[in-house]
Amino acid sequence: AIVRPTPESEAELAFEGALRPKNLAEFVGQEKVRAQLQLLLDAARMQNRTPDHILLAGPPGLGKTTLAMIVAEESGHPLRISSGPAIQHAGDLAAVLSSLVPGEILFIDEIHRMARSAEEMLYLAMEDFRIDIMVGKGAGATSIPLDLAPFTLIGATTRSGLLPNPLRDRFGFTAHLEFYETHELEEVLVRASRLLALEIASDATAEIAGRSRGTPRIANRLLRRVRDYALVHDTDGLHAVHAALELYDVDELGLDRLDRAVLSAILARFDGGPVGLNTLAVSVGEESETIESVVEPFLVRVGLLTRTPRGRVATKAAWRHLGMTQESPGLF
Ligand code: ATP
Repeated sequence: AIVRPTPESEAELAFEGALRPKNLAEFVGQEKVRAQLQLLLDAARMQNRTPDHILLAGPPGLGKTTLAMIVAEESGHPLRISSGPAIQHAGDLAAVLSSLVPGEILFIDEIHRMARSAEEMLYLAMEDFRIDIMVGKGAGATSIPLDLAPFTLIGATTRSGLLPNPLRDRFGFTAHLEFYETHELEEVLVRASRLLALEIASDATAEIAGRSRGTPRIANRLLRRVRDYALVHDTDGLHAVHAALELYDVDELGLDRLDRAVLSAILARFDGGPVGLNTLAVSVGEESETIESVVEPFLVRVGLLTRTPRGRVATKAAWRHLGMTQESPGLF
């Protein structure tokens, strides 16, 4: 299987933390979402109540966790961070909810992966700030109502389509995060280099920005790899960018190995498609969820892939990009 580099080493996490914008004004791009959040926060402040629940939807690395931190910061309330996979029983959620202080912001990352039983508990909690705790089993089981402190739930998901409607409906609004434009990523990189006291030429930041898959997390990570390269090889500028990106298998469009593996499987094994998601996932040895929520959105965005009711189809641009040609049907 091809493993996408994850920012899990401590150094990478510290690096991400240091670069996180602390307020809405520092947050680059996503104008629409920023305006929506600002209104929500201002209205809550004027009415002296907790802001409505917020659902953040979009591919990884576009700033969902950062926005949750900013909402907490701007509303002056503490932030509690949890995640869907960590909530495997209603009891896990009850423990978190019952310990919230008034106004606390509860961030649940990957909320679509929470257990069903917890999801149902969340409906009541979001609506009435109340949960029912089941005590005992079988005929003797009773439910004890428990009042909660008013809180704001911020759910993050890479796939808002996976959330059951009753849950989705209970959010005051859903912010759809879009991939960033290259000039926005340049802004992210200029800011990051300033914070890290790196001197980097503007043509170099422009080049990194254009190869960052529309994703600030990737832009920051590539900046770090380029810095490493420049340091070790005592070189800088565009040369360091090209050499470092080549070393890390990032191509001119910013596609990484997994992106290209998916595309070339569609082209070489399925003659350009259509091919079903699961077949595709098996043929590159990845989970279908990763293909669907991480790889495909960007390939669709840059026009290399289309999703049709019959499956995924590579576009002409995909054939060109990978330097392959479609075999013309033979005469016999
Ligand atoms: P995941 O869902 O995978 O956790 P995410 O969408 O929550 O990803 P974040 O962790 O919020 O992404 O962002 C990743 C990094 O990208 C952050 O460390 C931050 O430095 C940077 N970043 C994200 N969005 C922006 C932005 N709009 N402006 C500047 N930097 C940003």
